[in-house]
Amino acid sequence: MESLKQKKERAKKTLEILDPLYTKEKTALKYHSPFELLVATILSAQCTDERVNQVTKVLFQKYKGPKDYVKVPIAELEEDIRPTGFFRNKAKSLKACSQALVEKHDGLVPSTMEELIKLPGVGRKTANCVLGAAFDVPGVVVDTHVKRLAKRLGLTDNTDPDKIEKDIEKLLPKDKWRRFSDLLIYHGRAVCKSRKPDHANCPLFRLCPSNDI
Ligand code: SF4
Repeated sequence: MESLKQKKERAKKTLEILDPLYTKEKTALKYHSPFELLVATILSAQCTDERVNQVTKVLFQKYKGPKDYVKVPIAELEEDIRPTGFFRNKAKSLKACSQALVEKHDGLVPSTMEELIKLPGVGRKTANCVLGAAFDVPGVVVDTHVKRLAKRLGLTDNTDPDKIEKDIEKLLPKDKWRRFSDLLIYHGRAVCKSRKPDHANCPLFRLCPSNDI
């Protein structure tokens, strides 16, 4: 059984090694306001950022704010976001979330976790994405990559995203949370892939307890 100190040390080294290797922006999703970021994040479930950006380039010209999503017939919205996949559920979430924003928040995106997760279609992952990128509030974003890498790197024994979030929070200072999750996402996409992790070309090889899976 590893001590918290050992896990902290591995998390710190992981950050030091990966940080200079991935020098991209805070998120690859393109947006001009917290609301656009919220929409893009909802659309990004099970979809690449690149595809989302292609769709939102047109979407954000047509829909200027939550009221436009409330007004549009759902079938039309479904067509507009169809290429992002799961478009029926996503259209439903966008409409319900926009409705809540108009009714309860004057059409503005709230800046606290508590209020964000009350919005339909918004879980902790989406909320942390929005809080970190739009409001500079520290948070660990646990998506499928972070979930996998945290486990492989021995930083958590949990499978529940909310628990993984808490586990990672214990290992690093607040101001590193967001960057650390971004790095795990980038590294998960590029090297430590789900089916075939590229151990031989991984800069974390020496410190990773799963370098032989
Ligand atoms: S050594 Fe392998 S399992 Fe560990 S982080 Fe690198 S690619 Fe992933």
